[in-house]
Amino acid sequence: MFLRNLLMIILAIGSINMIFAAEKGQDYLSKEREVKQTRILISGGGIAGFTLAYWLKRRGYEPTIIEKHATLREGGYKVDVRGVALEVVKRMGIHSDLIGVNVNLNRSKIVLPSLKVFEFDGDVLGHCLEGDIEVNRWDLVQILSKAAQDMEIIYGDSITKIDGTFVHFEKGETREYDLVIGADGIHSNVRKLAFGDSEQFLHQCGIEFCVFPVENFLGACLENRLF
Ligand SMILES: Cc1cc2nc3c(=O)[nH]c(=O)nc-3n(C[C@H](O)[C@H](O)[C@H](O)COP(=O)(O)OP(=O)(O)OC[C@H]3O[C@@H](n4cnc5c(N)ncnc54)[C@H](O)[C@@H]3O)c2cc1C
Repeated sequence: MFLRNLLMIILAIGSINMIFAAEKGQDYLSKEREVKQTRILISGGGIAGFTLAYWLKRRGYEPTIIEKHATLREGGYKVDVRGVALEVVKRMGIHSDLIGVNVNLNRSKIVLPSLKVFEFDGDVLGHCLEGDIEVNRWDLVQILSKAAQDMEIIYGDSITKIDGTFVHFEKGETREYDLVIGADGIHSNVRKLAFGDSEQFLHQCGIEFCVFPVENFLGACLENRLF
């Protein structure tokens, strides 16, 4: 009995569901079954959605993602992977993939309305430190979605109502879930459905960015130019 309990404690290290099993003295297999039966829906197949799905899968859960866009959503600006995020991507085994798509900016220029130009080293504007990785959101989301493979992803649909455990989808389907997680961006649909209009949670800082691709008519190379 003692050995069995000891084994359970050792197995529990690094696994939340196993920790619960050891603490409550439950048989680990029944806990594992419970994990597998927990129905989780993640709204949003973006950075947060795929990262969470990856870690849930590693813990034995089988989450479903619902993404309103018809495909993996393209676009976005650079995202800095730094600090604790570097450790996370290493543990996910995607650190080298991210190095491969590092934008490696070596210069940044800010052009004022007077056309006066301020020039910086590439790392200064992004506050990048040694080891930090800067990647385009589109590259990041592709790498994350590959890492979190083999799961149900419902594209082109969205949640319209959460009624207890019943979740209603825009295209008419109703399913039952134990947990619904909002990873659907700054104007989160799930947050709106659960807590009300997003305006009450957003605070305007007076700066807005609009990012879109253009032909490289300035001949810029590994360079950031802000007008
Ligand atoms: C100029 C600029 C610089 C930035 N720099 C950084 C940075 O340095 N570091 C950083 O961490 N971040 C940065 N960001 C922000 C970065 O884009 C976000 O951190 C990141 O994309 C957020 O991930 P997310 O998963 O929360 O949202 P998203 O990547 O936006 O994903 C949300 C997903 O939810 C989907 N969705 C939306 N509504 C619904 C719905 N109703 N139903 C189902 N799906 C839905 C969307 O289609 C999308 O796929 C920057 C952004 C900008 C504009």
